[in-house]
Amino acid sequence: MGRSRLRAALVVGLLALAGPALAEVTVLGAKRIHSMEADQPPATAIAWEDGRILALGTPEELQARYPGARLLDMGDATVIPGLIDAHGHVASLGFEQMQARLAGASSLEEALRRLEEFARGQPEGWVLGRGWDQNLWPGQEFPTAADLDALFPDRPVWLRRVDGHAGWANSAAMALVERDLSGDWQPDGGRILRDDQGRPTGIFVDAAMDLVSAAMPAGDAALSTRALELGMASAVEHGLTGVHDAGVSLRQLEAYRALADAGRMPMRVYAMADGDSAALAHLCEAGVYAHPGGRLQMRAVKLFSDGALGSRGAALLEDYSDEHGNRGLLLLTPEKMSDVVARARDCGVQVATHAIGDRGNRLVLDTYEAALGPDGAALRWRIEHAQILEPGDLPRLAELGVIASMQPTHATSDMPWAEDRIGPERVLGAYAWRRLRDSGARLALGSDFPVESVDPRLGLYSAVTRTDREGLPEGGWHPQEKLTAFEALRGFTLDAAWAGFAEDEVGSLGPGKRADFVVLAEDPLAIDGDGLDELTVLSTWVDGEAVYRRGE
Ligand SMILES: [Zn+2]
Repeated sequence: MGRSRLRAALVVGLLALAGPALAEVTVLGAKRIHSMEADQPPATAIAWEDGRILALGTPEELQARYPGARLLDMGDATVIPGLIDAHGHVASLGFEQMQARLAGASSLEEALRRLEEFARGQPEGWVLGRGWDQNLWPGQEFPTAADLDALFPDRPVWLRRVDGHAGWANSAAMALVERDLSGDWQPDGGRILRDDQGRPTGIFVDAAMDLVSAAMPAGDAALSTRALELGMASAVEHGLTGVHDAGVSLRQLEAYRALADAGRMPMRVYAMADGDSAALAHLCEAGVYAHPGGRLQMRAVKLFSDGALGSRGAALLEDYSDEHGNRGLLLLTPEKMSDVVARARDCGVQVATHAIGDRGNRLVLDTYEAALGPDGAALRWRIEHAQILEPGDLPRLAELGVIASMQPTHATSDMPWAEDRIGPERVLGAYAWRRLRDSGARLALGSDFPVESVDPRLGLYSAVTRTDREGLPEGGWHPQEKLTAFEALRGFTLDAAWAGFAEDEVGSLGPGKRADFVVLAEDPLAIDGDGLDELTVLSTWVDGEAVYRRGE
């Protein structure tokens, strides 16, 4: 029996077990299909069977080739490969939907108002929230515990900043912290902000946040699963068929695995172990993980080099332009980073390290260079964010074969204040998509949701315009770094797939690949760049099945 006949027989057998449905060929016609494959001629129809693409062509050709195929006519719509977010946080996105939303609040009063309203609906336990950003408030000053105490004298309140790198607690929450917070001590890799008398103000930066999080009761497994499902549902609604989940604990991997076993994963997740943790130890012991259904993998580890720019935790080579004497924080010593990276390499685990500041990025490049050796490019190590690079370091990514995993919306969110932090010189090496791409580095694009919106249309828009949604600044912020719509789309498809070792399976539409695609009302490569944020996602397909349809 030939291989394909054997496979067909197996498939029919399996389907017979599963129920009455029979494997059938589907031909989907549209106005235009962008395969994103270089050698693929323009197509207006795509055929698949059993979740795998058979061919692209015209509806007539494919109907002739596959008589009896199920026909779907998408009319004027455009089909693109399923979008892949190369850096997001699925559980956090889900949990955010279970927490007070403070993102976009334009004053302290508004943040408090939203919080009060949220707490009314959740009358017990900790009040959790996320997304506040004092840079949007008049005065731009950090809020304090006292601001919260008036409303919540007894209930503990813990609110994460928009970038996830600082938290704001009230007095009731701080009272639950095990260690005495007064005095002048600081935790490694973090900072407790204090007033003149040494009393904590309520703001905890980077590793200091753990002091408060540790005081919270641990969420149960059902809650984690619910968060993952909420997060994935909202991702597919926006046209995502894949996400690289940047920091997954062993417990979360178990929750994912249970969902994959139960056929409840609407999309593909490429999980990264959360640092030098139980998850990494598990990968080293049991080998990298791939679920047989093809929707879940873990073969990477996410590390942190430094903090974030908004909270001045990003590690810079020179002082912050707006805070003399502060150069930010390295979260791992060079020795510790070399040690983890070497262990990951020896276990065949891809390393993906968060680096924002030029010092943080240089540490990663130096560490990778020492660990990778001459054939290191094959390991596809990545820098997450690669946000501010000293100009001399820019070409090193291409030289080492290191992937720049970048988030276009970070640039357009940070642009109002980024130059205050680093000044007019250093900003030229910041969010430098064009220079990195032209140097030969591969750009895997993403959003870092829920730090930014999960909506990849906003990423495409930011990449092409470098403006805010109102089109400002006119012409774009440092417009020499803009990408074309094609390049941006490639960053969210094929290059993101490549960053997850999946370019043979997804990322473009061609025979043999998975039928993961998005049906859009408009053609993203034919409209003006400033319309990309308003593309209409009509449906999202994974393995040839619709996982989201607009209006359903
Ligand atoms: Zn992240």
